[in-house]
Amino acid sequence: MHGDFVVDTTGKNSKTIKLLEKYGFPAPRESRINSHLGYASRHYQIPEGKRDWKQLYIQMNPPHSFRGGVLQPIEENRWIATLIGANKDYPPGEDTAFLHFAKSLRNPMFYEAIRDAQPLSRIYCYRNTESRLRHFTQLKKLPGNLVCLGDSVCAFNPVYGQGMTVSALAVQELDNCLRKNFSQSTQLSKSFYKKLHRANFMPWLIASSEDNRIAANNKSFSSKVIHSFFDRVLHTATQKPSVHQAFLEVLHMTKPAHSLIYPKILFSLRKKK
Ligand SMILES: Cc1cc2nc3c(=O)[nH]c(=O)nc-3n(C[C@H](O)[C@H](O)[C@H](O)COP(=O)(O)OP(=O)(O)OC[C@H]3O[C@@H](n4cnc5c(N)ncnc54)[C@H](O)[C@@H]3O)c2cc1C
Repeated sequence: MHGDFVVDTTGKNSKTIKLLEKYGFPAPRESRINSHLGYASRHYQIPEGKRDWKQLYIQMNPPHSFRGGVLQPIEENRWIATLIGANKDYPPGEDTAFLHFAKSLRNPMFYEAIRDAQPLSRIYCYRNTESRLRHFTQLKKLPGNLVCLGDSVCAFNPVYGQGMTVSALAVQELDNCLRKNFSQSTQLSKSFYKKLHRANFMPWLIASSEDNRIAANNKSFSSKVIHSFFDRVLHTATQKPSVHQAFLEVLHMTKPAHSLIYPKILFSLRKKK
């Protein structure tokens, strides 16, 4: 704490908030959302044989099905097979139960692919998937020479694969702020948190509204609109490569979310049956 400038990159379990409170600074308000989602992953040797697909993604369909699965090819001719379960319907870490869970998915392809494949690892389970956003921008009193970034500010449910990109974007924002404002350190943390908030906003909206399908009993009008829009995007993405590409670009943050409402995408969206 005696440094000219301190950056907290200690992740989701950061102790900075407690430390700030100890020195008389208020704690930021937190938004939290927990869909009680867990996943279980295992490596398999990819069996011989012809397939007309390379990668599988069986989506959940809440409230009808809280189960999904992803089968991805990785190096050394292996699959990483991940089963996902939300609403506390967690996938198990035991051999036979893992296969049973796979068999219960909405589409049999995942189970049929792994049932005779040779497992190359044990099953790894993960359940700590609550998302949490700390609203530093709302704080009136902040130390000027201390900033938090990455998971210590915004930690996502890892299933959406956003955390590393968002953390890297935060580092870019900090770099910009340091180049402009380093001599006025009190201003620096405030202007950094404003920029960070903007960088976090869209990934948080996507992740939290998806988790809200499961976590929230009473859905707001805006979340119903977002859900209906993403239902159409995902449904069309399974059939139209251009929509699939556009969706992945937004998910991977190489394009802004509003690129999904460009006319060529918007007018091609189909209603989910
Ligand atoms: C299971 C899982 C899967 C994930 N999958 C993906 C994914 O596919 N794609 C994606 O983009 N993101 C994924 N994420 C999220 C991603 O890992 C994080 O968002 C990202 O690593 C956050 O970076 P960070 O630097 O803020 O924190 P971290 O990467 O957590 O780094 C914090 C570091 O600080 C260290 N530390 C903590 N306290 C102290 C201390 N007192 N002194 C010294 N060091 C300390 C920790 O040991 C750690 O090394 C996943 C996360 C998890 C948990």
